[in-house]
Amino acid sequence: NSPVITIDGPGGSGKGTIAQRVAQSLNWHLLDSGALYRLVALAASNHGVSFDNEESLKILAENMDVQFLVDDPDQPIKVILEGDVVTKDIRTEEVGRNASIVAALPSVRQGLLQRQHDFRDNPGLVADGRDMGTVVFPDAELKIYLTASSQERAERRFKQLQDKGMSANLADLQAAIQSRDEQDTNRSVAPLVPANGAIIIDSTDMSIDEVFTELMNHARS
Ligand code: C5P
Repeated sequence: NSPVITIDGPGGSGKGTIAQRVAQSLNWHLLDSGALYRLVALAASNHGVSFDNEESLKILAENMDVQFLVDDPDQPIKVILEGDVVTKDIRTEEVGRNASIVAALPSVRQGLLQRQHDFRDNPGLVADGRDMGTVVFPDAELKIYLTASSQERAERRFKQLQDKGMSANLADLQAAIQSRDEQDTNRSVAPLVPANGAIIIDSTDMSIDEVFTELMNHARS
């Protein structure tokens, strides 16, 4: 089995950015598992499948046609759903909320399991999400739990939106982040908790470079 590094944690903790950098620097594969839940939510909306139709959602999770393409290593991975580029469409707040709803259904999680295992390949895999170390790759060599205060995560998101020229309200962003945390932490399947043996990194007062350096030190040791 190829080696795996798992990076779990709440939304906005910087997991995605860090996972991409680690994968790039080791030249390993990358799994953005949150994108898979977002894709199930988007595919369901496209096909008019309701979010309480667990059986149909499971069929989508198992069979939806998805590709991840690395065009430019410095850009987010290109995501293609049934032939359409949906890289940006899956990042909306609405799709994120819906992803969190479908992610609470055990058969959807089950339906995505094989797909996630298929990402494991030589020379190694960096997997980011909520349950990478607890459920999907419990035998991972290195498990990281990356977190930050909800206020800090809201501020980061606020800056991102401002940089894109979009307006936002900081208090609304923080409320949305807290409500998603609550949903992900309190669900009965694969709740968001640090895996056994995970190294916890609180990035509230750290830069991306500092988090990257700390993580790579653990990866080397
Ligand atoms: O990380 P991201 O915001 O893209 O994830 C969207 C949603 O997908 C999360 O709020 C969570 O409910 C769900 N998710 C999950 N397990 C994962 C990754 C994401 O339940 N491994």
